[in-house]
Amino acid sequence: MRRAEEMERVAKSVKACTRCQLWQTRTNPVVGTGSLSANILFVGEAPGYYEDVKGEPFVGKAGKVLDELLESIGLKRSDVYIANVLKCRPPGNRNPLTEEIQTCTPYLDAQLEIIAPEVIATLGNFSLAYIFDKFGLEPERISKIHGKVFTVSTIAGIKKIVPLYHPAVAVYNPGMKEVLREDFKVLVKILSPHGQV
Ligand code: URA
Repeated sequence: MRRAEEMERVAKSVKACTRCQLWQTRTNPVVGTGSLSANILFVGEAPGYYEDVKGEPFVGKAGKVLDELLESIGLKRSDVYIANVLKCRPPGNRNPLTEEIQTCTPYLDAQLEIIAPEVIATLGNFSLAYIFDKFGLEPERISKIHGKVFTVSTIAGIKKIVPLYHPAVAVYNPGMKEVLREDFKVLVKILSPHGQV
């Protein structure tokens, strides 16, 4: 109940947000979806065209890949939480700007605090860079560290961070789907017994 109220407060702020320029071109901000008691939180990059239209994360082609990957490890969207580094779509799906990331990530930080997941899975380079920096980890190339588990000790307990390729890489490259599928297997393996979904 407490979590729901706190997330509602975050959602309200995001929906009214004018802290950076992206509010001027957004149709809908995308707060995040899923279980507020999730043990795994996925962090994507930013809403794309379809996400902006629907106000939900990962509802386009990359979202279909993400759903398949979740299913391959026996999970549904409702078992996990999915959020993005940026809550509003950058025009033309351009890369997020540094100042947009700085301005927007207090919302993601609040979501991480409310949900307090055991596992944080980063999807793509912007998410990897932000989460690694936040938890004091040395950034490395995704090609080197995808699917590896980084354990950090925080005041909210031990967190396991797993860098993953962005599901969009598998949209036109089926070989990458196999890599992602293998990496996803790690997510359920590392959940503690009390965290099993
Ligand atoms: N790509 C992302 O990183 N996030 C979304 O929500 C959709 C596509």
